[in-house]
Parts: sequence; structure tokens; C-alpha cells
Amino acid sequence: MGVEDEVRARLCRRCDFYKEGETLECAAFKVAKRLVEQGKVSLDEL
Ligand code: SF4
Repeated sequence: MGVEDEVRARLCRRCDFYKEGETLECAAFKVAKRLVEQGKVSLDEL
């Protein structure tokens, strides 16, 4: 599973706006993905 899918699974599934098959990336999603990619936040810390 790639970073995008991992963030989707951990962040979006807890979001009130999440819909199955969600492909949009809100600002919070983009920031979370970037922080994980840069190693500043681990997936478990999301
Ligand atoms: S992309 Fe943003 S708004 Fe959409 S489900 Fe994920 S966290 Fe929620």
C-alpha cells in the first residue's frame, strides 16, 4: 500500500466527509501526506 492509500485508510476513514471510493485530496490530506513522505510524522502518529 502506498503512502496515499495509507493516509486515506488512517485519516479519511475517520473524517465525517469520507465516502467509499474517495479520490479527492483536501488540504488536510495533502499536508498529512507530505509530512509522512518527509518523515516528519509517522503513519501511526496520524
Ligand atoms: S480527503 Fe480530506 S475531506 Fe476527504 S475524506 Fe480525506 S480528510 Fe476528509
